[in-house]
Amino acid sequence: MRPIPFNVPWLAGNEQAMITEAFANRVFGGHGPFARRCMRHLEELHGAQRALITSSCTGALEMAALLLNLQPGDEVLVPSFTFVATASAFLRCGARPVFVEVDPRTMTMCPVDAERRITKRTRAIAPIHYAGISADMTALQALATTHNLVIVEDAAQGLDAFLDGQRLGTFAPLAAFSFHETKNIHCGIGGALLVNDPQYVERAEFIWHRGTDRSRMLRGMTDKYTWVELGSSFYPSDLQAAFLLAQLESLDRNTAERGRAWNHYQEQLAPLAAAGLFALPTIAENQRINYHCYFLLARTAQERENLRVHLADRGIAAYVHYVPLHSSPMGRRLGWRAQDLPVTEDTANRLLRLPMHTALSDEDLQRVTDAIRAFYGNTDTMH
Ligand SMILES: *Cc1c(COP(=O)(O)O)cnc(C)c1O
Repeated sequence: MRPIPFNVPWLAGNEQAMITEAFANRVFGGHGPFARRCMRHLEELHGAQRALITSSCTGALEMAALLLNLQPGDEVLVPSFTFVATASAFLRCGARPVFVEVDPRTMTMCPVDAERRITKRTRAIAPIHYAGISADMTALQALATTHNLVIVEDAAQGLDAFLDGQRLGTFAPLAAFSFHETKNIHCGIGGALLVNDPQYVERAEFIWHRGTDRSRMLRGMTDKYTWVELGSSFYPSDLQAAFLLAQLESLDRNTAERGRAWNHYQEQLAPLAAAGLFALPTIAENQRINYHCYFLLARTAQERENLRVHLADRGIAAYVHYVPLHSSPMGRRLGWRAQDLPVTEDTANRLLRLPMHTALSDEDLQRVTDAIRAFYGNTDTMH
């Protein structure tokens, strides 16, 4: 049987034409003409003060951590159910990641648990928008206001998703996007830092320019540049930016095509969820998702594993995601134990992601949902 891959990176179609144009420009370093067009595009899309493209979302989060001037002993609330970078970016600055439980309905940060974990040392909160489903930004913003915390939105999965009609990535002073090939829009490996609060713009540019005030020189404000801040090398080549611009301009088409796959799953699987065979995330009325991924929560960890193997046997790549950070080898070294976040342990062990990309044909999608139906109908699914 023809294998159905988990992910196939999106191609807009004109990436190579854009790269050819970059060759004609003869600018291959960073912040060239294509980088500027990508950044303007992201700024206009989000109404952001500044967008700085980066070589990864990890890099954008590290820039955010530098911008916050975190000191050893400071604490940052992060979900345990996330990619490594949400925690490691802050750890690199000497801050302690404090892991917070998920809300099992959305697999995003639970604001009630977040509040319980606030101490005198808490400086920031870094929620993610898992699968393009918004974290509870209203509750988290209230916490941030009450306890004087800065929110860093890890919007790696949030491009082109909305809460209350507002784009994800615009709910906090700083937000990070990923353009890794596993994300909806990509340039192989890449990312962006969105600066929504003007107080961070100038320093963000310094940090981006490896800690120099080169941005001032480029604006003609000075004729030489110098070291002003702790920065690093964060930006991609203009060849990558050329690829990225083609992708950014195809955003609407990408979201629509992913929606076709997502809606197939939803139509076919919602009845099984209603019958109690597994749970699907709750997508509130005020949300518009970007169809980044489709996942279900099986009744037990064993049943999730049986379903994964059942699909793999039929050539369908379904993935497990994420191994919680708090109980990872690194998390344990930081002093955490699995039982510190029981909800995260339980739900992460029951979560399964289905193939989700724009190259899924209607026939592929039918094969996936037929295989799931067969698993629950024809096999002994009891643990
Ligand atoms: C993909 C992802 C990242 C990391 O993105 P890179 O661009 O690969 O560094 C960070 N956080 C979340 C939530 C992600 O999904």
